[in-house]
Amino acid sequence: MNRTVARKFGSNVNRLRIPWRQPFSNDAVPISSTSNAANLEKESEDLRYDIAIVGGGMVGLALACSLATRPLTKHLTVAIIDSNLALRRKHFIEKEVHPDPRVSTVTPATISFFKDIGAWQYVEQHRHAYFDKMQVWDYTGLGYTKYNARDANKEVLGCVVENKVLLSSLLSRLQDTDFQKKIYPSRLTSMSILPNSSSLEVDSTLSVTASFTHGRLAKLELEDGNSLYAKLVVGADGGKSRVRELAGFRTTGWNYSQNAIICTVEHAVENHCAWQRFLPAGPIALLPIGDKFSNIVWTMNPKESSEFKSMSEDDFLKALNYALDHGYGPHPTSSLLGNADIFSWLKGVVSRSANDCFEIPPKVVKLASERMAFPLSLRHANDYASNRVVLIGDAAHTVHPLAGQGVNLGFGDASTLSSVISEGIAVGTDIGEILLLKKYEADRKPTNVMMMAVLDGFQKAYTVDFGPLNILRAAAFHGAHYISPLKKSIISYASGEQRLPLLS
Ligand SMILES: Cc1cc2nc3c(=O)[nH]c(=O)nc-3n(C[C@H](O)[C@H](O)[C@H](O)COP(=O)(O)OP(=O)(O)OC[C@H]3O[C@@H](n4cnc5c(N)ncnc54)[C@H](O)[C@@H]3O)c2cc1C
Repeated sequence: MNRTVARKFGSNVNRLRIPWRQPFSNDAVPISSTSNAANLEKESEDLRYDIAIVGGGMVGLALACSLATRPLTKHLTVAIIDSNLALRRKHFIEKEVHPDPRVSTVTPATISFFKDIGAWQYVEQHRHAYFDKMQVWDYTGLGYTKYNARDANKEVLGCVVENKVLLSSLLSRLQDTDFQKKIYPSRLTSMSILPNSSSLEVDSTLSVTASFTHGRLAKLELEDGNSLYAKLVVGADGGKSRVRELAGFRTTGWNYSQNAIICTVEHAVENHCAWQRFLPAGPIALLPIGDKFSNIVWTMNPKESSEFKSMSEDDFLKALNYALDHGYGPHPTSSLLGNADIFSWLKGVVSRSANDCFEIPPKVVKLASERMAFPLSLRHANDYASNRVVLIGDAAHTVHPLAGQGVNLGFGDASTLSSVISEGIAVGTDIGEILLLKKYEADRKPTNVMMMAVLDGFQKAYTVDFGPLNILRAAAFHGAHYISPLKKSIISYASGEQRLPLLS
């Protein structure tokens, strides 16, 4: 670091050490109506933060944890705004209850990120299920693919974890650091940002009101009447992001006219494999979640979903086992397009799991949770960053859950954004500066857009029942099943490594 950068860095870190009242308190600071001007100014100083994270979901909390663990960002003052009551409790996981139906399949890249930010050790204290095998097939009976972690020299393909376990692990990790965060149990209602007055030097001695007037702070107003100020506002408030709307970010996207029914089910034996079958109306996935439980994500049209949600448990189980077995079409065999021999011209590239036979998933014997239905859509913000505002997670992009990638992309955003903020601090840049935030956007947009395109392509290719297309799909299954480099690329890409399938 040269001397100028070191001097800038030193003064920047000092500037970030602002007076702090009630650290780790979960109660928002009320605005007093005292007439004393000095007191008023002092109180508004207490409402000044470096970063306001709107949305304390999995992605918002992951960003906070990542900031808490980096040497240059761990001194930042951070406000987290979310009305979710779970954030007010330290431990909200009851061990003995059945797994919650809301789960995420986290990739090896996410597991590494959680280890880096010190949160994975908390996940491991609760129920979670690593899996190293996956079988994908479709209802036509023309093909199937088996993935094994060993095809890509990996130990696991992923891990299925309840969302509440991920959330509580991130929260516990955050509470075990001395990060200066404060949780506001409310919701953002409005936001004002004035243009930067470029003539003004960035000066820490400016009062909150003067900093706001000169465009150096954003002002946030909350549903409970509180307001606060921050240099940077992070929209981590999900698919219907209020931050995105208030900042005027436009989006591109569409609804899929599909709902996903999710629930927890029980088997007579333990399940260690992730299963996915493409049916005429969409995919059904059976994911291990530990003990004898699995999670179901079943995509179908909205009319069917309301029928399947309300039918009796017995009828639902029958329909489920039918859909996971021989319903809608026969079991696939390798004889229709041949076997590994047809790829014999590709010497030495036949995958190690190419001879693994098709298997029928373990039978479901009991419904172990309520059934929930979620409408599915694709949405992408045209920009992720503007002056003092940035979007992460579902606020920036919502994808189809067919490959379990949504929150993994969000964790990638959180990791990159905290790294970009850290780089900005190192050179003394204002962390709400658009040029800095655009670096984050430039890094994440291509990765997110590519994944969205791949998932949308899959969604479309597998919801059309048309003879020639069925044969092409079968050929794709066979290629992915037998050809080792292709299989390795697919596994690496789905694991969160940023290489594009087919190109590595
Ligand atoms: C059926 C289904 C299955 C899925 N399976 C997977 C999977 O296996 N793997 C995977 O990677 N992804 C999966 N996803 C996607 C994943 O659930 C989302 O990507 C993830 O929840 C996004 O996290 P987030 O923190 O960005 O947003 P959210 O989880 O939506 O959290 C947003 C938070 O913001 C808060 N909030 C909202 N508005 C405001 C406001 N105005 N003020 C303050 N706070 C506010 C909310 O209370 C919430 O806590 C699945 C999605 C669905 C629908």
